Amino acid sequence: MSFSTLGLSEPIIKAVTDLAYTEPTDIQKQAIPVILSGKDLIGAAQTGTGKTASFVLPLLEKLNSERKLRGKRIRALILTPTRELAVQVEESINQYGKYLSLSSMAMYGGVDSALHKQRLIWGIDILVATPGRLLDMAHQRALHFDELEVLVLDEADRMLDMGFIDDINKIIERLPLQRQNLLFSATISNEVRALAKRSINAPVEI
Ligand code: AMP
Repeated sequence: MSFSTLGLSEPIIKAVTDLAYTEPTDIQKQAIPVILSGKDLIGAAQTGTGKTASFVLPLLEKLNSERKLRGKRIRALILTPTRELAVQVEESINQYGKYLSLSSMAMYGGVDSALHKQRLIWGIDILVATPGRLLDMAHQRALHFDELEVLVLDEADRMLDMGFIDDINKIIERLPLQRQNLLFSATISNEVRALAKRSINAPVEI
């Protein structure tokens, strides 16, 4: 199976070919068509399985098919437990999206927020953020969620272990009801299932 049979368009296939990816990994084969179809998804996947590309590639495809971005709006939100993961995921977005003109940013605490705020003024297609800083920015009205199309919870089990559940719930309360939800977790514990139940509609499980 090749990337082109999964429903991804030429600029994205060219980007993965540049990275010498010859074939999609198992999670990519399963997740990409589900995400492109617009369904919600729960994916049990460890780091190293290619899980980042399994949601970033179809996300790029979907957002690229219709360009519309307004100031202080984001179209996709990827929540991650740590700054390191946020930076890593955003680097992947840049690599996989290098032939597209979608915008992305990693946003996390512990650094001056002025630059993040400045960039949010024009809107960002894909924002990768840690929960605390995101909530802080929302409280400051530096961004609005009314045009959000897709929510991704990456490493959900780690976010719960790190005590982000209240922040995540507060973020979810602010999101539009009509949206696509994707949750990835190395382990699907009862806590992860409870979070999924609150945030996800009839997901496909992989
Ligand atoms: P991840 O599980 O998302 O952390 O990805 C693990 C590593 O696999 C990363 O270094 C990716 O660049 C790489 N990778 C992802 N998809 C593929 C693929 N289809 N073929 C080869 N390498 C890949």
